[in-house]
Amino acid sequence: MGSKKTEGRNMKSYRKEIWLNTSRRREYINITPIVEEELTKSGIKEGLILVNAMHITSSIFINDDESGLHEDFEKWLEGLAPEKPYSQYKHNYAEDNADAHLKRTIMGREVVVSITEGKMDFGPWEQIFYGEFDGKRKKRILIKIIGE
Ligand code: ZN
Repeated sequence: MGSKKTEGRNMKSYRKEIWLNTSRRREYINITPIVEEELTKSGIKEGLILVNAMHITSSIFINDDESGLHEDFEKWLEGLAPEKPYSQYKHNYAEDNADAHLKRTIMGREVVVSITEGKMDFGPWEQIFYGEFDGKRKKRILIKIIGE
């Protein structure tokens, strides 16, 4: 609650690419500890942190780390954009991942989180997830932190 103003002229910037590799086609990975580690390394105490997927068939989103909810995501997304039959999608003339592009679009590309006193300002139960929709291969996420 309340507001706080911080003044300074020493803006820092920190960038890190992280590689992930999932064993399944679809998977949700809680990457909050990875992001926290990079925030600590950055030394930035006040600012903003951006985390985005660098691929068009995976997502970064914030939600609860609860396995039932993750099963609900799977069911909901499969209802909206079922993986099979592959032939139902025009994109699949040469690939089989049209469903993954659609799932990524609805689950989002990135999140931005405020940093105060060296910590991310999360609401209750908020955690950062990597959502993979066409896995079993190496993919990157980007972490960019700006502030001071
Ligand atoms: Zn594709």
